[in-house]
Amino acid sequence: MALLPLQTGILYGPVNSRRLGRSLGINLLPSRYKLCSFDCLYCHYGRTQVKTLSPGKKYLPDLPSVAAVLQAVEEALRTRRDFDYITFSGNGEPTLHPHFPEIVAGINRLRDQLRPEVKLAILSNSTTVHRPHVQEILRLLDASIMKLDAGDPRTLAGLNRPAAAARLEHIIAGLQHVPGLVVQSVLVDGPVSNVQGQAFAAWLAALPEVRPTQVQIYSTDRPVAEAAVQRPRCRSTAPIAPWPRLPWRGCHRLLCSAWPPRSNSERGFPSTPTGPRDEEDRDERDIANRSRTGCSGAGTGLGQNVVSGAPGARA
Ligand code: SF4
Repeated sequence: MALLPLQTGILYGPVNSRRLGRSLGINLLPSRYKLCSFDCLYCHYGRTQVKTLSPGKKYLPDLPSVAAVLQAVEEALRTRRDFDYITFSGNGEPTLHPHFPEIVAGINRLRDQLRPEVKLAILSNSTTVHRPHVQEILRLLDASIMKLDAGDPRTLAGLNRPAAAARLEHIIAGLQHVPGLVVQSVLVDGPVSNVQGQAFAAWLAALPEVRPTQVQIYSTDRPVAEAAVQRPRCRSTAPIAPWPRLPWRGCHRLLCSAWPPRSNSERGFPSTPTGPRDEEDRDERDIANRSRTGCSGAGTGLGQNVVSGAPGARA
C-alpha cells in the first residue's frame, strides 16, 4: 500500500472523525509538498520535504492567501450543512502559516456570523505552542489537539525528527497554557520506540506536567514513512498499568475509557466512546479516515487508538 497523497486544495472532507464528528479540514500548507517542523517516522504522507519552524518568504507563493482561505470557508459555511467542525490540519503543521492568527480570527468571525453552532479545532504538532501569538489564537478554538509523542529529547529526535530549532522544553512549557488541552500521542516500537524503558517512562511523566483534559493514544498503521516502524505489542505497553482504569486489553484492539472530561463535555467536545469498538467496524472506519484525513501536526491517519482521561487532568 502506498503512502497517502497530499491534500490538493484549501478545504477537504468532511472527514468522519471519531474525535470531531464530521470535520471539514483546512489545509494552510502547500499542495505540492509537505511543509512541517517534524518529519515523523510514522507520517503517512512520507518524508517532510521542507522541514522548518519558520518558513521564509520564498515559501509564501506556495501557501494559500488569507483572502483565499476566508473565501473558501465563507462559501462552505453558507452552502454546506455536512460538517460540525472546521479543523486546521493539512499537509504539515498549520501554525507555520505566517498569517495563521489572521486566518483563525477571520474564520472565527465568519463562523459566529453564519453558523455559530460549528466548532473550530486544530491538530498541531505543538512545536510552536510556546509562541505568544499561537497561545493567544488557540484560545479562539473549541478543541486544541496537540501532539506529544516523547518526554525526552532523544526520543523526540529519533521519532519526530524535528527541525533544528524545535525544543522539547518549549513544547512542554507551551502545552501547559493551552485551555482544554487534548494531547495526542502515537506509540511506536522498533528501532525507535516510545513504549520501552526510559522513553516510555519519560512520556508518561510528561503527561501530568502538561495537565491535559484528555489523551488520545494511537498505534501506527501502514503506510508510514519508515518501514521499520512497528506497532507496539501488548507486553511492551504493559507499564501503562499505573494509569488507573485504562483497559489495556491487547495491542491491536481499540482501547478506550469512560472518562470524557467534564470540561470538554461542557465545551461541546465529543464524548469518548465507553467500550471497545467492534473490530471490523474499527478497521473500516480507521481505513476510511486514513484515506481522507489530513495529517497536520497530529499524525492523523494512524491506526487504532486509545482515548483516555489523563492523570493530573485539569478540571
Ligand atoms: S505526522 Fe504530522 S507532525 Fe509528523 S511529519 Fe507528518 S504532518 Fe508533520
